[in-house]
Amino acid sequence: MSTDEGVRADWATKDFYQVLGVAKDAGAADIKKAYRTLARANHPDSNPGDAAKHDRFKEVAEAYDVIGDPEKRKKYDELRSAYASGGFGFPQGGAGGPGFDVSDLFGDRGGRGGAGLGDMFGDLFGSRGRTTTQARPRRGGDVETSATIGFTDALEGVTISLRLTSDSPCPTCSGTGGKPGTTPHICTQCEGAGFVVVSTGGGFAMNETCPACGGRQLVYDEPCPTCHGSGRGMSARTIQARIPAGVKDGQKIRLKGKGGAGENGGPAGDLFVHVKVRPHRVFGRTGDNLTLTVPVGFDEAALGAEIKVPTLTGSSVTLKLPPGTPNGRTFRVRGKGARRSDGTMGDLLATVEVQVPAVLDQATREAVEAYRAATAGQKLRAGLFEGGA
Ligand SMILES: [Zn+2]
Ligand SMILES: [Zn+2]
Repeated sequence: MSTDEGVRADWATKDFYQVLGVAKDAGAADIKKAYRTLARANHPDSNPGDAAKHDRFKEVAEAYDVIGDPEKRKKYDELRSAYASGGFGFPQGGAGGPGFDVSDLFGDRGGRGGAGLGDMFGDLFGSRGRTTTQARPRRGGDVETSATIGFTDALEGVTISLRLTSDSPCPTCSGTGGKPGTTPHICTQCEGAGFVVVSTGGGFAMNETCPACGGRQLVYDEPCPTCHGSGRGMSARTIQARIPAGVKDGQKIRLKGKGGAGENGGPAGDLFVHVKVRPHRVFGRTGDNLTLTVPVGFDEAALGAEIKVPTLTGSSVTLKLPPGTPNGRTFRVRGKGARRSDGTMGDLLATVEVQVPAVLDQATREAVEAYRAATAGQKLRAGLFEGGA
């Protein structure tokens, strides 16, 4: 007998039957049929740019290379049953003392002998930690949530705790959706493609994830008792999310990798936080600037005045209103606005709003009447009636 050519140590951890969705005792014709269906559905030529499909294609080809070949299949089955029965164990604590003799298993006495053994251990060590190669990686789902933060926190940035309920792979079936220990078969609805073509009208067609297998390409006769076949579990967790300085009300923040967990080593999805900012009692905001409406008396606007106004940090600044300040004039106080992303500060825009007293006491009424008498000659509205087209 020749050496164990083609026998790979990582076979022990790969379920090629599961990869092709066939039973362990499937006939050669069924295996071939399953392979053809899956290879066609995942072929790189018909799925350009789809890395997941390419990986799946390779996985399918690798599986068929072994269990599509009667000789290799026999060796594979022997290796797998030895592995399953516990005859195999990963050597613990380094290459010290493996408790099994691989060469016996393949009748590989002499020949490559020790060298083959060494190769095999190398592979075994190399393959540790990726025992779920029969399932391809899937990216976790994106998660959306909302958070309300204070006005000042929005300006300065804040770290908040978010309690999230999110999708994660079902712990019972590891996301396959099948009852553990049962063998899946190729989805008949999509013929293993993972998607179906639906007409959107107007002669257009679109690919949609196959409703029967959820894009997994394989289906189980018996669904997982925990998730009822969905493959998804719900988990609640609390995460710390950093809301950057300068966030605006209604803005959506993307926190990469804080969404749903990936499956089979796939990356996590993203978390989107819809941020609501509580309004401030007196300050408003436009971009990097803060806004403030400052009530002033007619006399202050007319005669000029020095007016103390607050800033967001609690200190106050003095506005110098020149005599004759019109209602609605905006004064710019540099550096008292919102912090920009580069650390510099925007401005405070203080807009004066002349107040008209709603009720006049005796003294005020006399003063205003005296003002009226003094300004009797002014024609405020003359301009409204001047001719012109
Ligand atoms: Zn399907
Ligand atoms: Zn499950």
